[in-house]
Amino acid sequence: MPFSSSSGPPGPPPSSLSHRAYTVDRNTFREAMLTGLEEHVFFGKSFVRYEEFPDKIIAHFADGTSADGILLIGADGVRSRVRKQLIPNFPAIDTGMRIVFGKTPITTEYLAATPETHRTGMSLVTDLDDKDQPTPMFESIHFPYTGKVEAPQLPDPYMYRVLVFHRDVIPFSDEKSWRFTPEEAANLARQLTASWDPALRPVIAHQNTSQSSVRSLLSAHLDIAAWDPSGRVTLLGDVVHVMPPTGAMGANTALRDAADLVCRILKAGGAGKVDSQVIGEYETDLREFAKKAIDMSWKGGMKSFGLRPIEECESIVL
Ligand SMILES: Cc1cc2nc3c(=O)[nH]c(=O)nc-3n(C[C@H](O)[C@H](O)[C@H](O)COP(=O)(O)OP(=O)(O)OC[C@H]3O[C@@H](n4cnc5c(N)ncnc54)[C@H](O)[C@@H]3O)c2cc1C
Repeated sequence: MPFSSSSGPPGPPPSSLSHRAYTVDRNTFREAMLTGLEEHVFFGKSFVRYEEFPDKIIAHFADGTSADGILLIGADGVRSRVRKQLIPNFPAIDTGMRIVFGKTPITTEYLAATPETHRTGMSLVTDLDDKDQPTPMFESIHFPYTGKVEAPQLPDPYMYRVLVFHRDVIPFSDEKSWRFTPEEAANLARQLTASWDPALRPVIAHQNTSQSSVRSLLSAHLDIAAWDPSGRVTLLGDVVHVMPPTGAMGANTALRDAADLVCRILKAGGAGKVDSQVIGEYETDLREFAKKAIDMSWKGGMKSFGLRPIEECESIVL
């Protein structure tokens, strides 16, 4: 995708869910997003807790170091420590669904073994006779700008594939499967698909076994309870609205949050001018948009991936 050369403040984020969808390679996207920020981003620090003062906030890290700032944005994912401090005992839902995902390089061997209908686009396969069978989804990822852009470096084409299944289907505890090495996760994908139609098996047989992983599908509640806004710390992304990936909305919603927050900070005159009212309004809109995205994700999951109704899922505290 060519980069826009326009400068100036960003426009407001979209408020509806009806925009054209693009498939994005995560590593490439991440590299593109980090471009120009190299001097401002530090890796390898594990956030532990924050201390809030009237004029600043201090983030403390596991290595004993700390950093001062005027606004802390907790974007540290579903197990967020920032959220645990700001909103202890955040209620959520374990859908019971698990996912094993991975990649399969599109090689000549893979193409030779795969029917033409499964080589391009996105495929979702449902076993109408046995709803407990894992639901596979796979998509071919190509990079039309290969050779035309210098950076970021674009990967070779690959199939992105996920298998969605209920945890009752596998003979492993969550504790065990979450610790699976990539090779063990790839092996689980093989076991789960051993009886599949041969036309579908190449995507697993030719997988890159070092790029497989098992995850659980958790969700925030549709109505996320409001909390007292702070003028110094706020949240975005999965921290506050993790949702099943069955609507392809999680990262999109995180990006919407980020774009909205940037607009509000600019409108306030910079991070130093942000107060609890600005943050409160941002968080109200965040909850409202997240509700639509979570709803859409559940509907997609129940229709196409065997997600069970909320009443059959386990309430958890994150
Ligand atoms: C299989 C699968 C498919 C998906 N498909 C889609 C899709 O098609 N479209 C879509 O929009 N979304 C999709 N999602 C959802 C998407 O991945 C998430 O919603 C998104 O990654 C959330 O971004 P985030 O930045 O909030 O959190 P994360 O991506 O979880 O990032 C959190 C970051 O915080 C870091 N961190 C955590 N704890 C600490 C700490 N204590 N100190 C310092 N750093 C810390 C982590 O290392 C991580 O880098 C999918 C998810 C899955 C599992």
